[in-house]
Amino acid sequence: MIIRKEYKFYAAHRNEELLDKCRNIHGHRYGLVCFFEVERKGSISTLFSDFDAKIESYLKSHYDHAMLINVNDPLYLTLCDHMNRTGEDFRFKKFNEPTSVENLSWHLFSEISAMGFVLEKIEVKETDSSVFVYSKHDWINDKKLFLKNC
Ligand SMILES: [Zn+2]
Repeated sequence: MIIRKEYKFYAAHRNEELLDKCRNIHGHRYGLVCFFEVERKGSISTLFSDFDAKIESYLKSHYDHAMLINVNDPLYLTLCDHMNRTGEDFRFKKFNEPTSVENLSWHLFSEISAMGFVLEKIEVKETDSSVFVYSKHDWINDKKLFLKNC
């Protein structure tokens, strides 16, 4: 059985590795669709509110109106310097790698799994016409890649 849930958040980012328009700081209304593997317990499997209570609040406090940023991007130090000088406090969602949709999917899949949910796949939308589909198989492969680099 699969339960499908949709979430969204607004965030800024850039991809410093690319030499095209994506190198500029820009924003997205990110869409996240989660496909949860669930088992029936009596007449229901999981209350929809159980997903929302954890995932919506997590996205709101860590991703929404944040800047997704690679801490190895020189821009990160520039923004830290700005905060030190002005006392402003930007919300960052820190990555140790570029903030591509592939790497964002890795983070979201890992974080939602760590909450105790079993995901079959997620879909991450940067724009209305582009959807990145990231499966459990992709996550297992990425785990080998990311954990090797630690
Ligand atoms: Zn982008």
